[in-house]
Order: sequence, then structure tokens, then C-alpha cells
Amino acid sequence: MKAIITGATKGIGRATTEAFAKQGFDVAICARTAADLDAFEAELNKTYPNIEVFTQVVDMSKKDAVKGFAAAVVAKWAKVDVLVNNAGVFLPGELTDAKNEDNFELMMDTNLYSAYYMTNGVLPAMVEQKDGCIINICSIASFEPYGAYAVSKHAMLGFSRALREEVKEKGVRVSAVMPGATLTASWDGVDLPKERFMKPEDIADAVWGIYNLSKQTVVEEIILRPQLGDI
Ligand code: NAP
Repeated sequence: MKAIITGATKGIGRATTEAFAKQGFDVAICARTAADLDAFEAELNKTYPNIEVFTQVVDMSKKDAVKGFAAAVVAKWAKVDVLVNNAGVFLPGELTDAKNEDNFELMMDTNLYSAYYMTNGVLPAMVEQKDGCIINICSIASFEPYGAYAVSKHAMLGFSRALREEVKEKGVRVSAVMPGATLTASWDGVDLPKERFMKPEDIADAVWGIYNLSKQTVVEEIILRPQLGDI
């Protein structure tokens, strides 16, 4: 069994990679920082010596790099069972502030277009096998108006819904996961007790659970929030 997880060296992507590796999946993972990828690959090889770990340095905000990663994995593995479109970035800022133009574009590229190009690279193999699962990491910002970031995450939810309709009769399941505040590097510098957040491992368990249902059932959308609510 094979899983692709984008943006996998930290946070939710890392925990998700571990969840699938623990279940015996071969994993194809990417991030921008080569040293982090090498270290994580070594750790995975040590803990799960029976799985294959494929890593590639990829900047998911760059269309050609995303397409290259998808093509490399598909060339290597005829069948991919699950794609987790996780890579994403949060940059604070108002949509109407012209100073945020570059940040807005970067968030759209990283949070939306990466998933679009990655999916289109992997989908033909899934459709041919009439089997596959695509899990898109959205956010509660997919339905709350939290600045420019929210636009990218609303779009990601729209992408998930449209994709779901297009492939539901082709054997491919599509899920949108909407987490609230999860304790990852994204929150570095925020002074709140860690109990106020969810654990990335909990999001990873939900992702594994979504995948692990029988193929007759799809979790179309799931919202996860800290017990005490949004931050
Ligand atoms: P994180 O801890 O900051 O980790 C991000 C991971 O993605 C790192 O491995 C990072 O490695 C990689 N990455 C970032 N930009 C990339 C790019 N352009 N190309 C390739 N890899 C990239 O992030 P996280 O908080 O786990 O968030 C993961 C996803 O969950 C995102 O889509 C985020 O929007 C979503 N989410 C997070 C929260 C939260 O509260 N944390 C809540 C809702 C939704 P490099 O830096 O080396 O590239």
C-alpha cells in the first residue's frame, strides 16, 4: 500500500506520515528543507524498516515542481492508494492591504494550486485502478472569514467538493478535513497553553480513520476543533 503526503516533515503532515508508516504503508513525502527530509527519512527507516520511504525536495508553491513530484511518484509506483494534500502555509494579513499581495498569491499557490496539480498528476492512475483516496487538509478557515488565508482554504474546500462530484463514480474517494487550531510550528510565538490546541497526532488519526473505512463509504467533510473551541 502506498501513500503520498505533501509538506510532511512537520506538524500534521509529519504525524500523518507516521500514522500511515505505522500501518505498513510505503510513503512518498516532500518538503522544501532537504535536511529535515533526510532526518525524517532516517527516522522512518529506523522505526519502520519494512516500508519504502521516497523523499523529494519540492516547493509546493511552484507548479512545475509539484507536477515533477507527482510524475516521479507515479513513475515509481504504478498504484497510489492515498494522497494527502497537506502542504500549506498561514500568513496573517488583510486581503485589502496591498502590502499583502505577494503573501496572498503565495497562499493560493501553496494551499490550493499545489493540491490541484498534485491531484491531477496522481488521479489518472487511481481512475485506471478504480481505486484511490484523496484527502485534502482544509481548515476551519474554509468556512470562517479569517483574512487572505481563508480565501485559499475556502477555495480548497470548493476544490474538494467539485473533485468529489467528478470522481465519485470512478472509484476514488475524496475527503475534506477541516481542523481548528492544532499545535504545530505554524503557531510558534503564540503564548497559549498547549492544552488549548489539538494534537497533530489527533488529526493524523482522523485522516487514517477516513482512509480506513470500507470503500463503500466516504467521509466527505469533517470538522475537528479544540475541546475549548476556536482560538
Ligand atoms: P507546519 O507545522 O508549519 O508544517 C508544514 C509542513 O509543510 C512542513 O513540513 C514544511 O516543510 C512543509 N511546507 C510548507 N510549505 C511548503 C511548500 N511550499 N512546499 C513543500 N512543503 C512545504 O504546518 P501545519 O500546521 O501542520 O499545517 C499543515 C496543513 O494543515 C496546512 O495546509 C495548514 O493550512 C493546515 N491547517 C493547520 C492548522 C493548525 O492550526 N496548525 C489548522 C487548520 C489547518 P518546509 O518548511 O521544509 O517546506
